[in-house]
This record gives sequence, structure tokens and C-alpha cells, in this order.
Amino acid sequence: MTGTIDIKVEKIKKSRVSENDINNVAFGKCFSDHMFVAEYADGKWQKASIMPYGDVPMSYAMSALHYGQAIFEGMKAYKSDKGEVSIFRAPDNFKRLNKSAVRMAMPEIPEDLFMNGLIELIRLDSAWVPSSETGSLYIRPFLIATDEAIGVKISDTYKFVIITCPAGKYYSEPIKVLVETNYYRAVKGGVGFVKAAGNYGRSLYPTKLAQQKGYQQVIWTDSETQQYFEESGTMNVMFVIGDKLLTPGLSDTILDGVTRNSVLALARDWGMPVEERKVSIKEVFEAIENGTIKEVFGCGTAATIAQIIGIGHNGKEYALPPVSERKFSTRVDETLRNIRKGKMEDKHGWMMKVPL
Ligand SMILES: *Cc1c(COP(=O)(O)O)cnc(C)c1O
Repeated sequence: MTGTIDIKVEKIKKSRVSENDINNVAFGKCFSDHMFVAEYADGKWQKASIMPYGDVPMSYAMSALHYGQAIFEGMKAYKSDKGEVSIFRAPDNFKRLNKSAVRMAMPEIPEDLFMNGLIELIRLDSAWVPSSETGSLYIRPFLIATDEAIGVKISDTYKFVIITCPAGKYYSEPIKVLVETNYYRAVKGGVGFVKAAGNYGRSLYPTKLAQQKGYQQVIWTDSETQQYFEESGTMNVMFVIGDKLLTPGLSDTILDGVTRNSVLALARDWGMPVEERKVSIKEVFEAIENGTIKEVFGCGTAATIAQIIGIGHNGKEYALPPVSERKFSTRVDETLRNIRKGKMEDKHGWMMKVPL
């Protein structure tokens, strides 16, 4: 029961969890027993239900498919050694989803609908939360326009859905990135600061070109001057130069990452100087040349920290210090893992316990 809308629950007849090795499944392809679905029509949120995960009938004319009114979130639930389940920073993802909704002219989701749906879903599927050291349950809330109509306009109907999938031993190999100055992830006045589906579609072609040159990802630059780093792939990017942590400041082309925010909070807790500002290609390459660069990494919910060990630019490849020497990001990774697993004090109140 939410303040405004009842959640109707239809449980699966027999759980599929024992058919899957949830601590080892490939990421993103195995879905847990249930999903949460809420419907918006006639100017308000109306029906909400939890039902067995599965296919649903939808029209090929559905407006999300043609004109891209589609947004999403990504967050994770963790299981402690005692078997308690907690979700990391859910209120931040909730707020960001509504920020995305506003920019894409979609209806905002009431907080109780989001939180009650989320908590009830994770409670029901708590057996799907991996207990391995680096395991988690990945949670994908999304909002799509469902009008059956061809014609560009704001949709009148929407569905808000939450699906989840176990992420076993998530480990991200160190990556090499290519500086991208021909294609842009985001532009001034655009939608780069929100999690709109189209941002990801547009990134695939430049990423494919980079992969053909032997890089795993691109590192995006700003569309106006090509002088400043923005993000790497679908992660925020950070640099440790000397004793300082540098990361591009938030703007309408930078996604306000929850992991980014958490890394900055830990750095400040530890008394490390932090600068959120434009970071130029020039200063980074100078720091590589004069040996003051210590670490470069991407950060996001999927990997937490993705170490960047090489940067390609103008036909040259620049090597970065080995991962084994990266004290700061290694400490961040361990600290976040310990907080999430309930092994370290959660000073910032990041974990939300799910009543089981
Ligand atoms: C989701 C995302 C991030 C990381 O955000 P988190 O909240 O840390 O997962 C960074 N950049 C882009 C473009 C993203 O889509």
C-alpha cells in the first residue's frame, strides 16, 4: 500500500532462482522473478503492480520507440554477510530520474510510488541478491512513453517499470581509451546531463570506431572547443595529478553520477584536495609527460571504478601508471565495497535497508 496507490502483487508460482548460478551469471541477461509496473494515464499515476517478470504485449507504434521519450536509472542492492539486503543511495537515483523526466517532458514519479515499488520488489526477490564479495543485484528503473500514435508529440500515457538482474563477480579489466574529437556524447543545451535512452544509441558508432583501433572506450571531449575532457564511455572520469583529484565540473553535458559524487565525498573525508572544474587535454598530457599523473579512472554504478591504463590521441598512445600503484582509487573501491557489504560504518547514510 502506498500513500496514494495500492500495489497489487501477483507472485511467481515457483521461483527460478535455484535454476541460476547468481554469483556467476553474465551481467544483464538473467532477470529475477518479478518486475514492478506502474501506469500513467489521464494526467495521473493510476495502477501499480508487481508481477512475474516476462514479456508483455505492446504496440510497434508505441511512441518511445520512434521519438525517444525513454529514460532510465541504474542502481544496486547488496547483501551483507548476515544476509541483510540494502540499496545504495536510492533517493539520489529517484531524484535524477525525475530530473530526466522533466527534461524529456515526461511526468514525474511520486516518491512513495518509486520507493514503495522498489522496496517491495527487492524484498520479494531478495534471494536474487548475490552474497559474493563483489556481487550485487543490478536494478533498472525506467520510464517509457506508450501512446500508440505516429506523430511527434508529448505522449499522454507512460509506463514506469523496475526490472532487476543479478551481477555476480563484477570485475572490470583496466581499459585503454581513445580521445574523441569528431563525435560528441553531449552538447550545450542538450540532454547529456540526464539518462535519456538516445544518449547511448548515439555513442555506439564512435565507440565501435575506437574499438576497431584497439581501444575499449572513447573519452569524450566538449563539442565547442575539443580542449576539455568530459566523460569516458558512460562513466564519469577522474584524474589524480600530484596530490589533487580532478574531475569535470557538472554542466548540461556531464551526467551527475552517484558514484562520482561518492568518490568526491570520500576524497573530501580523507582530506584530499578536490577540484571540480574543466579539465583540459593539455594539462593531462603535460602531467603524463612530467610524471605527475598518478591515476586516471572512470566511475559508475556498473563497475564502480574502471581503471584507465592508456590514452590514445592523434595517432599516439600514452601509457599511464600501473594499477598496482594507484592508492586512491584502490582505497575508494575497497571502502565502497565495505560500506555496501555492511563491514564499514556508513557515515553518509548511503545504505537503505530493505525489511525482509
Ligand atoms: C549513468 C552514467 C554515469 C554514472 O552514473 P552513476 O550514477 O554513478 O551510475 C556517468 N555517465 C553517464 C553518461 C551515465 O549514463
